[in-house]
Amino acid sequence: MLRIGLTGGIGSGKTTVARIFETLGIPVYYADDAAKRLMNQDPALRTALIETFGPLCYKEGVLDRSYLASLVFEDESKREQLNQLVHPATIADANEWLSKQQAPYALREAALLFESGAAEGLDYVIGVSAPAALRLQRVMQRDQLSEAAVKKRMATQLQDAIKLKLCDFVIVNDERVALLPQVLDLHEKLTALAAQPMPH
Ligand code: ATP
Repeated sequence: MLRIGLTGGIGSGKTTVARIFETLGIPVYYADDAAKRLMNQDPALRTALIETFGPLCYKEGVLDRSYLASLVFEDESKREQLNQLVHPATIADANEWLSKQQAPYALREAALLFESGAAEGLDYVIGVSAPAALRLQRVMQRDQLSEAAVKKRMATQLQDAIKLKLCDFVIVNDERVALLPQVLDLHEKLTALAAQPMPH
């Protein structure tokens, strides 16, 4: 089974694209959801987070995401500390999950696929591309955030131009080029690649 990464900047439409692949029967690992689950449920990770960021990270035993976000988006070294705790736990969890899937290929969706080191160990990576102005509008609307807050999050990610150069395939999600034919085309390509004896 091929292991395929799916990445793109915040608001590019990774989740939207991943949902289409799911309708085609392709299993998808959502790294953000998994990280959230692990931060709540993995005892070693919980202990490490409390030791690093203090007991206020959890409110009545549940991770206080907005508190943690407010800490790390203001401070790069704190963000790195958080990533160093959460990324290895998520990568290990994803690998375990991937090893159990029964499909020609499975997707691992993550915004920070290259930044976290998660791209290593994947056979191919798909990038989702959308203009920055559109991504900004989408996230402001979806998350009810100010322009400044979204721009701050965007600044913590690899620039799209760099990220997309590292991808093997690119899906354009600019609300001009139709999404569905691009996904169907890629699904066909990946299914064919998965049927070959050796990837690459
Ligand atoms: P994040 O990195 O923040 O998780 P994402 O890359 O997964 O974002 P989505 O959540 O898929 O992006 O999309 C961001 C918002 O834009 C969502 O509200 C989604 O419904 C909307 N959106 C994405 N693609 C399209 C499209 N082609 N047409 C209209 N709306 C879209």
